[in-house]
Amino acid sequence: MKDDAAHEGGCLCGAVRYRVAGAARWVGHCHCQSCRRACGAPVVTWAGFAEERFKVTQGALACFASSPGVTRSFCARCGTPLTFVAERYPGEVHVTVGSLDRPGEFPPASHVWASERISWLHLADDLPRHPRFGTADE
Ligand SMILES: [Zn+2]
Ligand SMILES: [Zn+2]
Repeated sequence: MKDDAAHEGGCLCGAVRYRVAGAARWVGHCHCQSCRRACGAPVVTWAGFAEERFKVTQGALACFASSPGVTRSFCARCGTPLTFVAERYPGEVHVTVGSLDRPGEFPPASHVWASERISWLHLADDLPRHPRFGTADE
């Protein structure tokens, strides 16, 4: 994939559209309880991009501070979860891979918050499983 390739995405109803450019810095499955509840899904797959490479091209993001230092956005009309921004990841915007037009181009490389995985969810891959954030210390 070319590093400057543009990728588009948006919500279910079409009111919000966005564009990201360049390769994702990180793609992974998150099993945390907050993502689960925010998306109503057993696991949520995210792709992280440099903040300046993310642009809303139509409509506007509705934002919600889901925990201290964390802002999640969604479409105010249809509710599709779109982005995650956290003080912990300065300069980065994470987008839900499921909201990208071509999610197949963003294969995940790891699982984070595996400690909160729903017990009946079994994904048959050999990707690393991190109990928490997946950074060096956790
Ligand atoms: Zn929508
Ligand atoms: Zn999460």
